[in-house]
Amino acid sequence: MRIAWGAALAASVSLLLAGCASTGAPTSSAPNAQSPLQAGLVKEVTGAGAFTHLEELQRIADQNGGNRATPSPGYDASVDYVARVLREAGYEVSTPTFTFERDGGPQGSARNVIAQTRTGNAEHVVFAGAHLDSVPEGPGINDNGSGVASLLEIATRLGGSPQVANAVRFGFWGLEEEDLNGSTAYVEGLSRAERDKIGLYLNVDMVSSPNAGYFVQAGEESESESDSPPESSAVSRVLTDQLGNTGINPQLVGFDGGSDFVPFVDARIPTLGVMTGDAGTKSPKQAEQWGGRAGEVFDKCYHQSCDRLDNIDRPALDRFSDALAGSLAHFASSAEVPAQR
Ligand code: ZN
Repeated sequence: MRIAWGAALAASVSLLLAGCASTGAPTSSAPNAQSPLQAGLVKEVTGAGAFTHLEELQRIADQNGGNRATPSPGYDASVDYVARVLREAGYEVSTPTFTFERDGGPQGSARNVIAQTRTGNAEHVVFAGAHLDSVPEGPGINDNGSGVASLLEIATRLGGSPQVANAVRFGFWGLEEEDLNGSTAYVEGLSRAERDKIGLYLNVDMVSSPNAGYFVQAGEESESESDSPPESSAVSRVLTDQLGNTGINPQLVGFDGGSDFVPFVDARIPTLGVMTGDAGTKSPKQAEQWGGRAGEVFDKCYHQSCDRLDNIDRPALDRFSDALAGSLAHFASSAEVPAQR
């Protein structure tokens, strides 16, 4: 079942690519054709809107000992905030509990947040997710308040009952910072039938690094390319085009390193991810292409107490919010998908 839905997604991507293949040149500087849903959503979604959610996450950390790590009062307050925003936007929201174990310690439990549109074919789910926890050392505003904030901005502008062909689901994961616990428990807890409904998973982890890089993770150029799920590299073209509309030519990278894409990749669900970089160093070529400082790390406050509001690169937040909005709108409104089932 998922194979049919995945193949249909790839077919819609091929159609999209066929439309711009005739020039034979990169189209990164020319705006790509947008559907009405895409154009409307991209116009409504702003980095400023996403930033208001970051301000709230900073406030939550400040009121709860300076962090939002799972498990902690700061994490619980983050869950309550995200669930409230999504309920007020009209989504069907749940906060399923997962359990985790620690070396020698007792078992604990925490909540993920799952929200889905009330419209669109629920057998064809377009899924985007971000981890909601910080490390204990700091408030986690770039890592990963930025991913959470961009998805909340998109979700609230899209609304819980949009005119879409496919249902849109958002996931906000707990305890990513320790073995990807929340997302792994969620994916492993799905039945085969429930997994097969997921046509695509898009992971958002750090999209406002102060010395921002622009990376699309899609299994390409990966040492373990053969391990990538089918369709990952094809669907990444949509995201690349959408970033192109913001003036950015992203770098395609593999699924190296850990984030919540891992359980989805392992389940062979077509998956992609975005990030602006963490402890790695920006190369001269990358600085020439994207701006910023060559020879310096992407996020000097990665996993530290200084990962606060002033650690956010506003242009990067703006670009990724728009590009993610345009990509989700594309996949949500792919008319080919239901017709080809
Ligand atoms: Zn992260």
